[in-house]
Amino acid sequence: MTRRPLIAANWKMHKTNQEAKDFMKELLPLISDLKDVDVLVCPPFTLISSVDQGREGSKVLLGAQNMYFEEKGAFTGEVAPAMLKDLNCEFVILGHSERRWIFGENDELINKKVISAFEHDLIPVLCVGEKLEERENGQTEQVILKQLENDLKGVTEDHLKNMVIAYEPVWAIGTGKNASEKDAKEACDLIREFIHSRFGSETSDKVRILYGGSVKPENVSMYMAQEGIDGALVGGASLKADSFAKLTKF
Ligand code: PEP
Repeated sequence: MTRRPLIAANWKMHKTNQEAKDFMKELLPLISDLKDVDVLVCPPFTLISSVDQGREGSKVLLGAQNMYFEEKGAFTGEVAPAMLKDLNCEFVILGHSERRWIFGENDELINKKVISAFEHDLIPVLCVGEKLEERENGQTEQVILKQLENDLKGVTEDHLKNMVIAYEPVWAIGTGKNASEKDAKEACDLIREFIHSRFGSETSDKVRILYGGSVKPENVSMYMAQEGIDGALVGGASLKADSFAKLTKF
């Protein structure tokens, strides 16, 4: 089974609209020869339209970094799935460790968001991963499996096939301390085995599983060479167009 590699940018809370437009203008010619790779850009809400306009004529995919699960209503400061669709988003990152550990999102909330994303035809990029102390205590597998179990409750096989799951060890995010290819592969294999055990091989063969955590142009090929790692979710190194373009050419 060959899955299409996916290189995804998570800009976090960076850039103005002008900077987003400039980025896209610089990026498109750099990746115009790409064939068998999906490229996804996930800007902050305020830049989604600029990236959407900036991607015109290209195959760049567009995603948000978060959303709320409700349709509409008195949820000050939140953004609904239909609002993301209205801005032409195709993907949404859910359960990023910064949402979990800075903003206190728990698995129950993340699960509601995952279900709601599917209901609105948005593809979730679900992030899972252990903290440093959990790794040091030998709890990595247990933590990942618990997150998957809880975050994917009620998700159907059909939905899951399109889903993207990112293994993002919390200690590797934004720290410059990337996981070894062996650790990254082991965690990605664990995630695929979980999907296989619950949903069967037709589904587990299709789900794309990414590694994220201090991925850079210098180390991306090491991950992409691993069977079972289908791409990368990239924060810091996705902020400059030339660096992000290099990542897509692993
Ligand atoms: C991320 O934000 O998902 C991420 C992996 O960040 P960084 O690449 O900066 O570690």
